[in-house]
Amino acid sequence: MTALRDEYDGLLLDLDGTLYRGRDAVPHAVESIRNAPKTRPLYITNNASRSVSDVAEHLSELGFPVCPANVVTSAQAAAALVAELVPAGARVLVVGTEALAAEITDAGLKPVREVTDAPEAVVQGHSPYTDWSVLAEAALAIRAGAVWVAANLDATLPTERGLLPGNGSMVAALRTATDRTPHVAGKPGAQIFHSAVTRAGLSAPLVVGDRLDTDIAGAHAAGLPSLYVMTGVSQPLDVLLAAPAQRPDFLAEDLRCLAQSAAELRPRPQADWKVTRTLTTVTVEALANTACEIGALRAIAAEVWIQAEPDWKKLVIRGTAAHHVLQTWPGHVGVSRGEGASPSVSVEFDD
Ligand SMILES: [Mg+2]
Repeated sequence: MTALRDEYDGLLLDLDGTLYRGRDAVPHAVESIRNAPKTRPLYITNNASRSVSDVAEHLSELGFPVCPANVVTSAQAAAALVAELVPAGARVLVVGTEALAAEITDAGLKPVREVTDAPEAVVQGHSPYTDWSVLAEAALAIRAGAVWVAANLDATLPTERGLLPGNGSMVAALRTATDRTPHVAGKPGAQIFHSAVTRAGLSAPLVVGDRLDTDIAGAHAAGLPSLYVMTGVSQPLDVLLAAPAQRPDFLAEDLRCLAQSAAELRPRPQADWKVTRTLTTVTVEALANTACEIGALRAIAAEVWIQAEPDWKKLVIRGTAAHHVLQTWPGHVGVSRGEGASPSVSVEFDD
């Protein structure tokens, strides 16, 4: 058996919800990465406000094997994308932190802060100090025809106090004010993964993350395989209802799966779960006491992902054994996709 970690020469790792939650490392994450010496870990963050060395220091304190060369931020990806779109040495209006301005300089461009500096591009990343006057400069530059690159479109920023407005919320303000749409460098854009792969010279990278709408969607955009872990934001039923462009190749509970074979982690029928389906109802039943939640997820995904769009309406969890393992699942679950279809299903127990 070849372990998943030995089939890829690099892991493009999401941070929050995959490697840590708040101040603590996710259980099993540190040792799982440390036990994978043949694959290079690259730490990918959509947050453009923290510098590479800050991110590396935080990861190192938690115990992850990290050097600054293995950290890729959306600020770096945004700078790389701007550099592709405007001539070398061009002036770039920075809406964001000094860390973002430094990346613009490193990319061979000239960071400026006012529209009177005649910028050819606007780069926008999160900063707690972005106020109306900063957005006003950017709006004028964008209206005058400057190329506009957003580090990411994350609507919210998770903090100890709750969800605060993220870069996507400030981008939305400028979209409203300019009627323009930015290029996006971070996830779910492909640039951040392209930057990481190019820098590390990887030939077989695997994207690893907890969010279908950013990590897994970004992997699809970049044409890379992906692994979903259940330790963060996206929940099992989100996975089952995912659109094709947000479906991962591998499904796992946590990063201990790196020691398992690829075949074990793919959606496929499981010996200890029975999944049956009528037109709109999927029924799942445990066949052995070894049945676990992630097995149910792989077995049901194998059944329902045959279709591009979810057309099932009900999931029945049959029998006490299945009930016990999947006790958090019942309820009414919907997935919002913004524009277009927002599929939903009800999940019920049945003895
Ligand atoms: Mg995450």
